[in-house]
Amino acid sequence: MTAPEFPASTTPGVRLPSTPPLALLLDVDGPVASPVTRDVKPGIIADLVALATAGIPVVFNTGRSDAFIREQVMEPMIAAGIPAGTVIHAICEKGAVWFSYTAAGPGPIHVDHELAVPKAYGDDVRRLVAEDYSRHMFFDETKRAMVSVEQHIEVPSADYLAEQKLFDSDAMDLMTRHGMGVVRLEHHAPNSDDEVDYRVDPTIISTDIESVRLGKDLGASRAVELLAAQGITPLAWRTVGDSRTDYAMADWLHHNDHPVKHVDVRPADGVPVKPYDVLTATDLGLGEDVIHDDAGGAYLRSWREAMVG
Ligand SMILES: [Mg+2]
Repeated sequence: MTAPEFPASTTPGVRLPSTPPLALLLDVDGPVASPVTRDVKPGIIADLVALATAGIPVVFNTGRSDAFIREQVMEPMIAAGIPAGTVIHAICEKGAVWFSYTAAGPGPIHVDHELAVPKAYGDDVRRLVAEDYSRHMFFDETKRAMVSVEQHIEVPSADYLAEQKLFDSDAMDLMTRHGMGVVRLEHHAPNSDDEVDYRVDPTIISTDIESVRLGKDLGASRAVELLAAQGITPLAWRTVGDSRTDYAMADWLHHNDHPVKHVDVRPADGVPVKPYDVLTATDLGLGEDVIHDDAGGAYLRSWREAMVG
């Protein structure tokens, strides 16, 4: 065993590596932003700012665009007062897009263009929505790599979900016409080379069409990289989500030897057996009816009380 030549603690001007007791990796729609109103409650913004101020890394890992995160999360957090020197990371579009922000605003937007859906296909989906589905949903013009079509807030959920099935089927037919192999849930439609490169991922408020290489696991790996670049190695992670696909954050962290617990704020789909702890609102002594941002907010508050006091 060799000792480091210049231990960081004795080298002038070199900061010790930072090892916060906890880092937060947060899905946004559901645990942070209300799936009903799509915005973020002031109490959640205050708790996020308090945790980040206390040195707890706060990283968002969302399918949303950078524009959505700037508007719904970054601007309210800056308004609430992020201290100088505190950096918040946002991984958007399931890992295809990322940026960081401080009290001064957003840094550069990074886009992995290799992970983008072909533009011609996106243009056809825009047309499909305009012609056949515009009463129930809209094309998200802020996405840079994914194609996302979202429920109008005023449309009742059951009506949207019924129409969404038809839209998803049409969107998959369009992919076949573009020679793109696609998968949706159990349905596989490989292209002529027997490849599946894209997936259709329906959520309770939108359908995302994306490269199969995107996912919350890619977002988790980017989160670890972004913190490592700052010299930050968290001792443990908490991931929070409302969908089955959000477990991929905790799966990736666990498989890469980062201690993690996952909070599921919408466990109605059933809680899968995992090699790490899975928490729900009932673990805080709350009722099973406490879900979405009420459950996410309760956990943020509990971590604030534990870490900040
Ligand atoms: Mg979500």
